[in-house]
Amino acid sequence: MASIPSAHHFIGNQLRASTSGETIPVIDPSDGLPFAALARGGAADIDLAVRTARAAFDTGAWGRIATVDRGRLLTKLANAIISHHDALAGLEMRDCGKPVKQAKADATACARYFEYYAGACDKFHGETIPYTPGFSVMTWREPHGVTGHIIPWNYPMQIFGRSVGAALAAGNACVVKPAEDACLSVLYIAKLAAEVGFPEGVLNVVTGLGLEAGAALASHPGIDHISFTGSPATGACVAQTAARRHCPVTLELGGKGAQIVFDDADFEAGLPVWVNAIIQNAGQTCSAGSRILIQKKSYAKVMAALADRFSALKVGAASKDLDLGPIIRKTQLARIQAMLAHGHETGARTVAQGTIARGTPKGGFYQLPTLLDKIPAAQKLACDEVFGPVLVALPFADEADAIALANNTVFGLTNAVWTTNGARALRVARGVRTGQFYVNNYGAGGGVELPFGGVKSSGHGREKGFEALYGFTQLKTIITKYD
Ligand code: NAD
Repeated sequence: MASIPSAHHFIGNQLRASTSGETIPVIDPSDGLPFAALARGGAADIDLAVRTARAAFDTGAWGRIATVDRGRLLTKLANAIISHHDALAGLEMRDCGKPVKQAKADATACARYFEYYAGACDKFHGETIPYTPGFSVMTWREPHGVTGHIIPWNYPMQIFGRSVGAALAAGNACVVKPAEDACLSVLYIAKLAAEVGFPEGVLNVVTGLGLEAGAALASHPGIDHISFTGSPATGACVAQTAARRHCPVTLELGGKGAQIVFDDADFEAGLPVWVNAIIQNAGQTCSAGSRILIQKKSYAKVMAALADRFSALKVGAASKDLDLGPIIRKTQLARIQAMLAHGHETGARTVAQGTIARGTPKGGFYQLPTLLDKIPAAQKLACDEVFGPVLVALPFADEADAIALANNTVFGLTNAVWTTNGARALRVARGVRTGQFYVNNYGAGGGVELPFGGVKSSGHGREKGFEALYGFTQLKTIITKYD
């Protein structure tokens, strides 16, 4: 039985304290109090994890395992995650301040990633290519070797599942550096992987700070591919480091998703979706729908309906399972509040806000969900990522205006159009620069099966779905002369 791990890395199927012996306190965002500790990993811990993963891949059984057996191990891990679903959800609730329903949904999604990629192991293959007579040409899809995974705090289980699930299915050995604010569920799942039979060194987790453990992972010469999910600034830093040794990188970065609502939209169907897209995980979602662009004739009507919904929203401790839980940490809350203050100084108007539930702990990091308008299109709130429960409303005149507004950001991750005119939906889909585009619906990141990733400063490369397997493999072309 896996138990709540604390103050240890997980390397070579063993719990290990940091080489330095140092730890980092783990804070519960619902009350601001420490409740556990993490190992503060550094270069020596990363080096040990990478060497252990290298041995598993280069000379261990993992490098030659049959694809069917690889798939069976992933299935066993998916089943173990399902069996430990409540324990994992409980950890994530405490560690990240996620309301119970969201924490449970994340555990379910994590298991689903391993289930999905388990089925893909023996179905992902190369091709034969017709060539000059007398030659036979085929391509092999080979794992990179040892992949590094740097993940953020907002969806630790889901992002671990999508990134590590695909990398393992492709045959890589992995070293994972979770965010310092949210490591517990990832350590727990790594222990489960050892319990269900993953060989030593195939899945390693080193906890610690970004500038220490994260930077050491990005620069380690034994890493063959890096999957980074996090902020654009850190992503650029990781990509620069990796570029020095020509290490391929997938970057999953921020977003400023727009819901584009035309006069002919089904408002009743849209309303709960627009609200949920910004309050889910207290707005700390890369694919949050943080802008609503409303066609002028319907602007007042849609804003009145949104204001009603926002005013009814309740914020409180994660265990209370209200509409929103806390923000991950004090500094993130301060960042959101500074952006709001700056917006108000430049004319932004608060149209509606939710309320804090009675009995909410005083020391927690709470932000009221806020609906804003009267924001100049170039203002930071209108085009930059807030990463909090702040919905910005902007009016537009016509299709061209809507597309220009939607593209008025450095990001391009997820966007949506709401209209009953099918041709218009496709014209807008074509005009908006984005990795995912929704028509009359919106999903934070979409399903496990759906390729996901960004354009512009939202990153490059795709995770999720079968597409991720291309990123976690290299193509080798074999040319045989037989005549
Ligand atoms: P962050 O960039 O601060 O941290 C992400 C990870 O990088 C953490 O594990 C951190 O420890 C590590 N890190 C920090 N500095 C590092 C360095 N110099 N070298 C190597 N690693 C380093 O991001 P965050 O605040 O944890 O996450 C929020 C951001 O992540 C938002 O911008 C959000 O949009 C984005 N995000 C994107 C996706 C996506 O799929 N596109 C998903 C979730 C979050």
